[in-house]
Amino acid sequence: MSTQPVIGIAYSDFAKRDNEMRIRTYVSRKYYHALQESGAFVILLPAPLPGNKRAADAHIKKYLSLCSGLLLAGGGDINPRFQNEDPSPFLGATNPFRDEFELELTKQAYKASMPIFGICRGCQLLAMALGGKIYQDITQTAKIQHTQQTPRWGLTHKITVKPSSLLASVIGLEAYTNSFHHQAVKALPKGFIASAQTSDGIIEAIEDTNKGRFALGVQWHPEETFYTDESSKALFKAFVRASEITIEA
Ligand code: MN
Repeated sequence: MSTQPVIGIAYSDFAKRDNEMRIRTYVSRKYYHALQESGAFVILLPAPLPGNKRAADAHIKKYLSLCSGLLLAGGGDINPRFQNEDPSPFLGATNPFRDEFELELTKQAYKASMPIFGICRGCQLLAMALGGKIYQDITQTAKIQHTQQTPRWGLTHKITVKPSSLLASVIGLEAYTNSFHHQAVKALPKGFIASAQTSDGIIEAIEDTNKGRFALGVQWHPEETFYTDESSKALFKAFVRASEITIEA
């Protein structure tokens, strides 16, 4: 028998001062609604203060014991110091509350064979946490528009999916997606493949090839098109299904 998956979302999407100077941390409700609609029970995983490895490790251990799957949400740029690079002049805003914690959380979740679904920044984070590298800025590399000026639910560029990949089994061999990124995966972690690309060669999805593992990153935002696009719905469903725990009856 299987039980309802518990998906943790590595919070936050962003931290912002409100007009009373309180710092608010939040995650877009679209991520957890898509997961809930796909049958998951969702919890948010706030990061402890950065710089305290013992506190981070304790949080991560507890979080992993509570969850059966991990969703890495979108957001701002990742600090390139975690791949031993200085910041490019084209690097956007980074968030020290997120990077260190999410990188370590992802490493530990992967080590524990937990299903992981990375979205946009989450795709890049998955690559970086497991030994890959990202472009700090793809403006000089990309030949098509990846920061679309169309509303978030609009599908703008075509992706070509690698045959026989996990992604192909979920969404088929091509799809149109939305696109809101100026960073992208540059080098894959060991054992991973680029499972989708745009016509300009930008990596739009990555996945683990170790059989039976669900570690998938997509560069687009399927949570924005969950209600209007079948392949977006199929992605969340596949992740939630992979996160079901099977208990011997
Ligand atoms: Mn794109």
